[in-house]
Amino acid sequence: MTCMPQETQATAIALPTVISVKELAEAVDRPVTAVITELMKNGVMATINEDIDYDTAAIVASDLGITVEPAATEEAAAEPVQRDENPHAIARPPIVTVLGHVDHGKTTLLDALRQTNVASGESGGITQHIGAYQVEAEQAGKKRLVTFLDTPGHEAFTAMRAHGTKMTDVAILVVAADDGVKPQTTEAIQHIKSAKVPFLVAVTKIDTEGADLNRVKQELAAHDVVAEDWGGTVVMVETSAKAGQGLSELLEMVLLVSDLAAPVADPDAPLQGVVIESRLSRAKGSVATILVEQGTLKVGDYVVLEDVTGRIRLMENWQGRRVQAASPGTPVQVAGLSGVPEFGAAVTSAPDEKAARIQAGFNQRNRRARRVAKSTVSAEAIRRAVDRGKVQQLPLILVTDVKGSLEAIEGSLAKIPQDEVSVQLVHAAVGAVTESDIRTASGSGALIASFRARVEPTARSLAKQLDVKISTYDVIYQLLDDIKTALEAMLPPEIIHNEVGAGEVLAVFRTTKTSQIIGCRVDEKKFVTGASYHLDGQDEHGTVKQLKRVDEVVGEVGAGTECGLTIEGPKAEVGQTISLYRETERARSLG
Ligand code: GDP
Repeated sequence: MTCMPQETQATAIALPTVISVKELAEAVDRPVTAVITELMKNGVMATINEDIDYDTAAIVASDLGITVEPAATEEAAAEPVQRDENPHAIARPPIVTVLGHVDHGKTTLLDALRQTNVASGESGGITQHIGAYQVEAEQAGKKRLVTFLDTPGHEAFTAMRAHGTKMTDVAILVVAADDGVKPQTTEAIQHIKSAKVPFLVAVTKIDTEGADLNRVKQELAAHDVVAEDWGGTVVMVETSAKAGQGLSELLEMVLLVSDLAAPVADPDAPLQGVVIESRLSRAKGSVATILVEQGTLKVGDYVVLEDVTGRIRLMENWQGRRVQAASPGTPVQVAGLSGVPEFGAAVTSAPDEKAARIQAGFNQRNRRARRVAKSTVSAEAIRRAVDRGKVQQLPLILVTDVKGSLEAIEGSLAKIPQDEVSVQLVHAAVGAVTESDIRTASGSGALIASFRARVEPTARSLAKQLDVKISTYDVIYQLLDDIKTALEAMLPPEIIHNEVGAGEVLAVFRTTKTSQIIGCRVDEKKFVTGASYHLDGQDEHGTVKQLKRVDEVVGEVGAGTECGLTIEGPKAEVGQTISLYRETERARSLG
């Protein structure tokens, strides 16, 4: 009896960028042992739970006679609904992010806007911090809602980039009238420009004595941010949160600028949102603030927040009121999640729990794929550096208050040039500095950096006992500065070679085992006691111990003069050129 040949696959099997051996066996419907055997034939030793990349999986599959293709990525799947193609789209509140240098008045401005322009009928409610709030703004006699993110603006921009999500229609760049453009202002301008987000400038603190509008405009113009009255296109509003000045004008201008981007959304479209805050709450479990961008989020909906799933159990607005549905532009805090989603994670809905889990699994696999790709790159770079015997590592334990800060700091750390010295993130966590962190630091010599995170009392006393320092920060750039300084201290210093002078050896008077007395003529610059020397055609270096002019011991001798030298080091011969130099060390900075 003959067997029918196996039918060739009509359609290719879609495989993710990274897949475990077990998952591959399931996907191609072959025993795990068959997959492992094929891998071994190709020189890959992998166990059942190990991850392999798409290319390897494709080779194994083809050896097994199966056609595969790369699965569509989550980014491709999450293509945003084209606004102007959707006839049901209606205007939604613009989402606004405030960013700028520390102490320039971002928080004060956000607080002032929150207090003075609470949407009518809502005042008196207990506001709760959920990462965003809404105010009512008036434009041409019409009242419209504006949604403000009160999470730090630069973190929002970093997360948007990391997740490919968009959570800002308009950015407000805050610049203090008495302080002008500072490093984080420049950073903020770069964020805004690279994300191509429309923006306006709020010049804050105009009530202060040192306020100097011209200086602010001038410094901003140097960064290509030119005010309208200076012939540019950037709207600038003068404000004083303290005096309550310029606030309604600022809101009006926000609407004006946002109208250029014309944020519209279809409340009936499939759900699209973004996580703008997340944490573990003692009372409610994992909670997240979701900003709805398209569609409507309702209590009872199944949701997928990248790799976290959930069924919305409870939904509250920023005033702590329970709501049943959230329309586009509206931030709501939700409970009923399987875990704490990442800041900036994209939110979609699913028809049921199973579909949600499958989608989350798919998202997770893709994320893992991106991480594998990233870590292979850096692992490779580190291996190369280790081979060169050059890399020195600074072990670091990083604890932050919320996920957003952790991601922002990790992102910024990755940007520090680390060719010779690098940060080795021993442990990164959200929450509190624990006893275990202290023990790890004590054992590994790691630095502990806490960014707005608590330190558990037991950890504090253990730190004292083991003499471990916990550095606490509430400004990201100070933390980064400190790490940069620590890395710079690990860099070998730069040796600076300063030419002192040069001349010709005219006579050799005496040669001992260790030293020589010679006669020279100084041709260039001067000769100085204590300088190093080398002779042309030789690699070795020595030191000038003594200089004599006629019979007198001198400190230095100028050009055109003959003198006697006592040298220790390589021996000189008549006719050679002798060059004197000094070497100084200079501390280096990172690229
Ligand atoms: P952030 O770090 O950018 O959030 O800055 P803050 O909002 O915390 O403000 C830093 C400091 O500037 C605080 O002491 C505020 O009271 C002060 N400040 C903020 N806005 C104003 C303002 O309009 N006028 C004056 N005089 N001080 C302000």
